[in-house]
Amino acid sequence: MWHATVLTLYPDLFPGPLDASVLGRGRADGLWSLDTVNIRDFSDNKYGSVDDTPAGGGAGLVMRADILSQAIDSVPRNDRPILCLSPRGAPLTQARAQALSEGPGLIALCGRFEGFDERIFEARQVEEVSIGDFVLAGGEIAAMAMIEACVRLIPKVLGSASSLGEESFEDGLLEYPQYTRPREFEGRAIPDVLLSGDHQKIADWRREQRQEITRTRRPDLYERFQINGPIRRDKNKEPK
Ligand code: SAH
Repeated sequence: MWHATVLTLYPDLFPGPLDASVLGRGRADGLWSLDTVNIRDFSDNKYGSVDDTPAGGGAGLVMRADILSQAIDSVPRNDRPILCLSPRGAPLTQARAQALSEGPGLIALCGRFEGFDERIFEARQVEEVSIGDFVLAGGEIAAMAMIEACVRLIPKVLGSASSLGEESFEDGLLEYPQYTRPREFEGRAIPDVLLSGDHQKIADWRREQRQEITRTRRPDLYERFQINGPIRRDKNKEPK
């Protein structure tokens, strides 16, 4: 079973939103699992502190490598990558979430304060992952976002796998515009083509819309799409 272990100073925040809706049902049904490790349990002092002042001076506190390493070593690895949430990390992508969802799970290391003593990364093969170019107060919400992105790709978690195939990022483009009833809303109609019943025309329209929306909103993605063509992953086929 796909298993996430989260190392954090705030284990009570979990599972939090990960227990809502289909993800929560998937966990209850044994499609994935989650546990937490409180980094504070590995403190070596009566205050329970896990951090210290930065070498070389400066503001804030740094999480200690010796304490982090003990917390990491307490977790059965089971071939899972150790991913530290960090604004310095490689940005999380849909392709990475897909690859992670196909593996045994992950171990997430959540930072607080100024972050981590640099030596932990090499000492325990910890990879830094970012969820975007902004700074959060801690890694917990970032870890939840990463875990959610993976878990919803585990077969059967969302129910119908076909809803995944044409989503944003799945083949390098953003999604086409979606509509549902009512047919007219505040004077705005659903585009005629979607009501035409002509499946080929609808598919063509959606493909054009996806390209146009990606070109105008995300020129970086569009350029890659033009160079590489559509990304085709096996997961876009029906799961066996
Ligand atoms: N001093 C650090 C920021 C620390 S923010 C720096 O300048 O890079 C505190 C913690 O929040 C980090 O250790 C990390 O675990 C988490 N965090 C903040 N922003 C994040 C982001 N964009 N992606 C992932 N984790 C983030």
